Amino acid sequence: MTKKKLPTVSAPVMVLTLPVSGQKIKYRPFVIKEQKSLLLAQESKDADTVLETIKEVISSCTNGTLEFTKVPTADLAYFFLQLRIASVGPEVKFSIPCTECGADNIINMSLNDVSVDASKVKTDIKITDEVGIKFRLPTVDDAITTDGSDSKSIKLLYSLIDCIYDADSVYQKSDYTEEEFRDWIENLNDSQVAKIQDFVGSIPTLKHELNFKCSSCNAEQSRLLEGLHNFFRLDLDS
Ligand SMILES: [Zn+2]
Repeated sequence: MTKKKLPTVSAPVMVLTLPVSGQKIKYRPFVIKEQKSLLLAQESKDADTVLETIKEVISSCTNGTLEFTKVPTADLAYFFLQLRIASVGPEVKFSIPCTECGADNIINMSLNDVSVDASKVKTDIKITDEVGIKFRLPTVDDAITTDGSDSKSIKLLYSLIDCIYDADSVYQKSDYTEEEFRDWIENLNDSQVAKIQDFVGSIPTLKHELNFKCSSCNAEQSRLLEGLHNFFRLDLDS
């Protein structure tokens, strides 16, 4: 006996341009079973689980065309936000305590208002007139290894270096070890190290400023929401 298969329902094909790398990505919205696994990840409150689930869903929705090891973190976060908007809509609710009276305020916002400003990205840093460092932007795989400690941030900086150069030569990563790089950094002065911070400060992220008046005491409130974890919300009613 031959059984009829249920008809195939095709998904719409959508295209967007990643704001930092400028790469064009074709994708389809996520389906209910993918939405469920994202919700489960969200409930786990475990950052690695959330990230791995996001990567799995993005892979299926883009047919593996978004390369996690190459795309800057801000592009990945922006893409996931657009995927969420295409799949379940742009509305989210935040519960934010007032800084004056502590009352919880329920704020509705549209994820369409969240943006990535890639215009200030600065990856070529001049330490002196002649010596400079070229960096690459971190990907999501770099970001999960940072914990803010000094030794880790030198490790991260080292991993993000493309090359070091002076008037005569270009020093590729294979020309020096992390240890040699650490010694080199430790022999710079304060204002030279501060220039490296120009690169760190220019790394783009998802950003949105929420302004509202507290419904309880009327105080003007402002919050800067930054990074995907602030916008990773799939529960439509919370
Ligand atoms: Zn208040």
